[in-house]
Amino acid sequence: MPLYFTFILCFIFGTIIGSFLNVLALRYNTGVTVRGRSKCMSCAKTLTWVELVPILSFMIQRGACRSCKAKISWQYPIVEFLSGALFVLLFMLYPPVSLVASIVTAMQIFILCILMVITIYDIKHKIIPDPLVWTFVAAAFLLMFVGNDTNPFVVPSVMQLLSGPILALPFALLWFVSHGEWMGLGDAKLILGIGWMLGLGYGLTALTMAFWIGAIFSLIYMAVSYKTFKHGLQIPFGPYLILGLYLVMVTGWQLFVI
Ligand SMILES: [Zn+2]
Repeated sequence: MPLYFTFILCFIFGTIIGSFLNVLALRYNTGVTVRGRSKCMSCAKTLTWVELVPILSFMIQRGACRSCKAKISWQYPIVEFLSGALFVLLFMLYPPVSLVASIVTAMQIFILCILMVITIYDIKHKIIPDPLVWTFVAAAFLLMFVGNDTNPFVVPSVMQLLSGPILALPFALLWFVSHGEWMGLGDAKLILGIGWMLGLGYGLTALTMAFWIGAIFSLIYMAVSYKTFKHGLQIPFGPYLILGLYLVMVTGWQLFVI
């Protein structure tokens, strides 16, 4: 099988998972199960399989429900495309070339799925659900113990084990002294996992990028919506942290050599 064909399959698989993650994030904590058939949010018409095809259905329907013409959120195609693209990137970065390598691939994909749901949920509700973020932290912790085929089980160095808590502690303190005003505790938990996934130097780079990108976007946001800003602006920081994590993973940038 040619390599590009594998990547196309990966992308399609990623978009299908992405459309499921959309549903999961929307129904999380709402009491609605994820098992029922998908319906239009406005007229409750059950969607046909054509209307469920990731990305394409949005384009064919021109972003509106076929029966009631209600606008469909851009969230759907964006999340589907991002999932597809990130699945391909993860397969390139962590190719499942052996048994142990496939475990790493599977864990990376699992972590991506959790982080996608956290991102959508944090943007919508400005909070990171504990069960989701602790699942991510646990997966990031376990990932440190997975090695390669010759050494399937590795014991991480003390520095690696400490990188999570060292990076997260200042943010937990910020949360504590500001009574959750400046920083949510969910962000500190997220940083704990990011520290374990990347180590200290790369982790610090991801944090720096998250701050810069977050600051730039906030300035743009304040400029275009001055009214909202006057009533206090609460920007979820989680999505920027996750963006920083994947930027570092993909580019391999390291601003701090520790
Ligand atoms: Zn409808």
